[in-house]
Amino acid sequence: MQANLIWDTQHECMPREELEQLQLERLQATLNRAYKNVTCYRTKFNELGIVPEDVTSLADLAKLPFTTKEDLRLNYPYGMFAVPLREVVRIHSSSGTTGKPTVVGYTKNDLKIWSNLVARMMTAAGVTHDDVVQIAFGYGMFTGAFGLHYGSEVIGAAVIPMSGGNSDKQIMIMQDYRSSALVCTPSYAITLAERMEQQGVDPKSLALKVGLFGGEPWSEAMRREIESRLLISATDNYGLSEVIGPGVAGECRCKNGMHIAEDAFIAEIIDPETCQVLPPGSVGELVLTTVCKEAVPMIRYRTRDITSLDYTTCECGRTMARMKKTMGRSDDMLIIKGVNVFPSQIEEVLVAIEGCQPHYQLIVDRKGALDVLEVCIEVRENTFFDEMKKQRAFLDMVGKRIDSVLGVGVTVKLVEPNSIPRHEGKADRVIDRRQTR
Ligand SMILES: [Zn+2]
Repeated sequence: MQANLIWDTQHECMPREELEQLQLERLQATLNRAYKNVTCYRTKFNELGIVPEDVTSLADLAKLPFTTKEDLRLNYPYGMFAVPLREVVRIHSSSGTTGKPTVVGYTKNDLKIWSNLVARMMTAAGVTHDDVVQIAFGYGMFTGAFGLHYGSEVIGAAVIPMSGGNSDKQIMIMQDYRSSALVCTPSYAITLAERMEQQGVDPKSLALKVGLFGGEPWSEAMRREIESRLLISATDNYGLSEVIGPGVAGECRCKNGMHIAEDAFIAEIIDPETCQVLPPGSVGELVLTTVCKEAVPMIRYRTRDITSLDYTTCECGRTMARMKKTMGRSDDMLIIKGVNVFPSQIEEVLVAIEGCQPHYQLIVDRKGALDVLEVCIEVRENTFFDEMKKQRAFLDMVGKRIDSVLGVGVTVKLVEPNSIPRHEGKADRVIDRRQTR
């Protein structure tokens, strides 16, 4: 096990009270600049009759309007910038799946802060100046590769800017250059592991020891698979270009949630339906406010990512709150008997149960005025379909576990192996019959 290194002890281990004072001061400065320099924010504040001076405590944040991806699109390309272009030294954008991409810019100081935030999370994952970091994210407009690249350099590690794709070459470089840290998406790590197996490359012969994976949601099961196939410590990190890129949050060696850089971002969890702020520990949509960014400040940016925050102290010594792995998008949310349910919450329960496959289907229906949720689970071949008593006990146990997580009673049904369609996405995972009644 690595020594427990912390990149910025002053901030990462700051007592909560001091941290909140710092957040408030930085928030007030950010609001003033955003109000003065960004028409979109000024208009929204004026519509609500709010001025930055009205924010005198962190609780006042809840009074402020949200910012969405749509706002960024409407103000394409530079409308959300709070500084003149001559002060901007870098421009990135997110891959717009529909319509225009969202554009973000960085001042010199923004880049310095960003690199240091990435250095924090890389250090927390176990990267040091002795490491050789192979970056297999695509370089380009996407923030992932550049973020990790500059963070590695700040740490003093040797960076190999491989970019994405070309697995055979990735493996050759990994062998020859003795790469010790791998940066890519978790699914690409599996692709590399598969290719190595095909080529007969023994992971023991490599120098790899740690992986920093991000850019897409992944499960604990996938972590175990990557760790056992590549013989590394696989860590998760979180970020999005709209608020800075990677470096928003990252796992420490405890791997029990990602520490959010709370001195740079104020995190809230809201109910995506009502937009109300939820109490600590609740599952809901993550909303982030940047308090250090100069070029493009984001006020209450709705990430659409579903997670929960843990404010208890972590064994590593960092005081920064930890966010759970993201559990999908708020657009996937179902409301059952007035309770918000995310398919990923059910998936998480099922993955943890021996004998369950992560293949499931949720059937929502209405009986009279009542919503009913049926969870169909595929069982592995030969799982006690013939033993009624065991089967009933199993269904009962699964139902209770789901109920304890969701707070909604469900009916659990076992279905034959391979009977649930294998396509990704809500369409196949959830059948909502309520609309058709
Ligand atoms: Zn920790």
